[in-house]
Amino acid sequence: MLGAIVGDIVGSIYEWDNIKTKEFPLFQESCHFTDDTVMTIAVAEAIMNGGKKDDFINAMKKYGRMYPNAGYGGKFRKWLFSDSREPYNSYGNGSAMRVSPCAWIIDCGFTARTGFISDAVEFAETSAKVTHNHKEGVSGAMATAEAIFLCRYYFGGYCGDYEKPINDNPTECKRRIKKYIEREYGYDLSMTLDEIRPSYCFDSTCQGSVPQAIIAFLESTDFEDAIRNAVSIGGDSDTIAAITGSIAEGAYGIPNWIKEKAISYLDEPLKSVLMRWKRFVHEL
Ligand SMILES: [Mg+2]
Repeated sequence: MLGAIVGDIVGSIYEWDNIKTKEFPLFQESCHFTDDTVMTIAVAEAIMNGGKKDDFINAMKKYGRMYPNAGYGGKFRKWLFSDSREPYNSYGNGSAMRVSPCAWIIDCGFTARTGFISDAVEFAETSAKVTHNHKEGVSGAMATAEAIFLCRYYFGGYCGDYEKPINDNPTECKRRIKKYIEREYGYDLSMTLDEIRPSYCFDSTCQGSVPQAIIAFLESTDFEDAIRNAVSIGGDSDTIAAITGSIAEGAYGIPNWIKEKAISYLDEPLKSVLMRWKRFVHEL
């Protein structure tokens, strides 16, 4: 989940000021955390509280109200501050940028033994549906969570009985992830970043940004490169970088200096959830 936070912070200054290049200083003084970070933290806390529908609603409303000006979309902001606990059929990319904690609570070893990954998908689905209950809103969250989980699985050297680990072959890991996501979610992941970049502009829908974010990961060589890829296509930069960063973390991990730098942009309440989450995942 820290991968999402890194992407959000790095991309924060480019959302309304797109740059179409990979050449930029990764962290600038004016970078800051935005709604993507706040809602990722809310999803982590919701899972630690039990991961039921009400836990997600409570945590999102709690953190949303603590950070009222983090940059929410209009309808989500209205929901946050209303008494409504009903979803509003959103297909915005908010469901995908906040979902990453859901992909870290499954045991890769268990999946290797059983082929079973339903926990990730179930939490991802619940986390999306409390607001983003449109089919595309749910798909965006689930595709992102599954991509993160599959990165943890393949890049982590896990495999089923009678199979061989493929973690020495990142190209093969990515080929399988791409094929799986295309088949399950109907996304077209065949375009390259060079093809996307020239005409891509702001699109805050799941279907108009999650595929691009996944491609930014598929074309990457390491964590930092993935974040640079995500920012380089323009569009909703902080959110695309958050989604790409969350997937890249599953594959490559995050270099320590980037972790430390990103955490330095957070305040105490957010940091404390992050620390609790680290212990929670460690103890699973
Ligand atoms: Mg944002």
